[in-house]
Amino acid sequence: MKVVNLVAAVKAEKCRGCKTCERVCPVLAIKVVDRKAVVDADRCRGCAACEQRCPDYAITMIKREQPVVVRVDVGAVDYVKIEELCRRAKLHPEQIICYCTATRAEEVAAAILQGARSPEDVSFQTGARTGCKVECIQPILRLLEAAGIEPSPPKGGWQWYGRTPTVWEIPEEVKKKYASRGFYFEEDIKLLDRVVAAPLQGRSDT
Ligand code: SF4
Ligand code: SF4
Repeated sequence: MKVVNLVAAVKAEKCRGCKTCERVCPVLAIKVVDRKAVVDADRCRGCAACEQRCPDYAITMIKREQPVVVRVDVGAVDYVKIEELCRRAKLHPEQIICYCTATRAEEVAAAILQGARSPEDVSFQTGARTGCKVECIQPILRLLEAAGIEPSPPKGGWQWYGRTPTVWEIPEEVKKKYASRGFYFEEDIKLLDRVVAAPLQGRSDT
């Protein structure tokens, strides 16, 4: 869930159409048309990535007249399916996967079960990945993959590049090679398995 207070605004006279903003927007809310950036204010999630990266300082974040609450109602989706999907992705349903917006795995799973097919869809619907964008892309990709979806990164974009291996996927030869160098893969796996399998805390019906 995110309360979106800001929206990107372009100073057209400063924009020279380089498309940097288009390439970094996590929800594909900004497009260059006739060499000028144009923001879809309804899609913008106020993350400021475009403002921070515009080489010509042509974008300013401005306050919205009315904040927009972005969330997927977890209660509207069968929680058994949400839980199955999260655990299949080796995530606990109540685990926070986007620290900037405090979005839990269960909300991303609910978005996917309701039709989100890409990280851009997930971010647009939940607000996750519209803060620092560092930690959340991998769990979002894992949840999509667990649902049988393999999205492609936006064409020509720099938003994300693909899923990285998890600790469960590290090859045996790598584990052996680094075992004597201060890495504790098996212990990490045991601990993370316990986290993934832990009972739900916040639901009265479990
Ligand atoms: S990054 Fe800046 S200069 Fe480049 S297209 Fe976007 S608004 Fe225009
Ligand atoms: S979502 Fe972020 S990157 Fe996209 S237009 Fe809005 S502020 Fe810019």
